[in-house]
Amino acid sequence: MRDNEFTKILGWPGYRVFQHEIDETAMTLRLWVRRKRGNRKLICSGCGRKFTEAHDYYQREVRDLPWRKYQTTVIIELYRVCCPECGVKIEKVPQLPGKAPFSKDFEDAVGLACESASVRQVARQLGLAASTVRAIDLRYLQRWSATRRKEPLKQMGVDEIYFGKHMKFITVVSNLETGEPLWFGQDRKQETLDEFFRTQLTENRRKRIEAACVDMWRPFTTSIEQWAPNCRIVYDKFHVLQHANKAIDEVRRAEFFRKGGRMRGVVKGKRWLLLTRWMNLDSQKRQQLNELFALNRRVMKAYLLKESLERLWTYR
Ligand SMILES: [Zn+2]
Repeated sequence: MRDNEFTKILGWPGYRVFQHEIDETAMTLRLWVRRKRGNRKLICSGCGRKFTEAHDYYQREVRDLPWRKYQTTVIIELYRVCCPECGVKIEKVPQLPGKAPFSKDFEDAVGLACESASVRQVARQLGLAASTVRAIDLRYLQRWSATRRKEPLKQMGVDEIYFGKHMKFITVVSNLETGEPLWFGQDRKQETLDEFFRTQLTENRRKRIEAACVDMWRPFTTSIEQWAPNCRIVYDKFHVLQHANKAIDEVRRAEFFRKGGRMRGVVKGKRWLLLTRWMNLDSQKRQQLNELFALNRRVMKAYLLKESLERLWTYR
């Protein structure tokens, strides 16, 4: 096979193979490539400025996609430019997205493989360390995230997740329409969510947020009120009812201490009855609650309030 045939199959735009080496025992293929004649526009990798003059050049080796069973290495001639902004800097080459010794096509293939197989499997198949595969996958995802179109955020969800003793809490922001998590921040302070608004959304995008579903956690609502002026705040059912149950429990406890003697006996041990919905109680348990309500109207009122609050979500 001649070098121009290698060039065709390799298919790196603007580059041609000028030398190759096939090792049949090691099953490796090495291809030396340089710019095609006429491909002389150099781009500074620091700032994107264009140059026609090169400062100097050197060779770099990267692993590329395999050719059948042959592991393939491309040795590429790279130029450095003398940039007034960045100094002497490597040119930008689309096939070489980073400093790692892999071509973009190779990294994309690894990233794609990681979508449907474990890191360990991919690593074994390609003869790479698991940590290398993980690093490639991360870069692949970062490139994907940087180039994809981001849907406008109209309905946002903000949750806190307890992440164990060391990390404590993290804040998770998600797009409720697409169900996609968008951002994670350490801690659950107002500043945590402030950082999301400041670094992830333009002012225009912030204005377009229509609703936010949040934990009933004051720092989050304060942050949203400040950054997203057109956003209505919605509390999710779980958290509202958590607060309602807590309120009932407080009434129960207050009544327990307020009244002495006989009343204590009736309220005592009824905690779980009071926290259970009426429709989920059998007739015997309902009877017990009715006895309690007959004696104490405050506890009954609290229970009925919570019942009607629950019905808000199923009301038609
Ligand atoms: Zn530059």
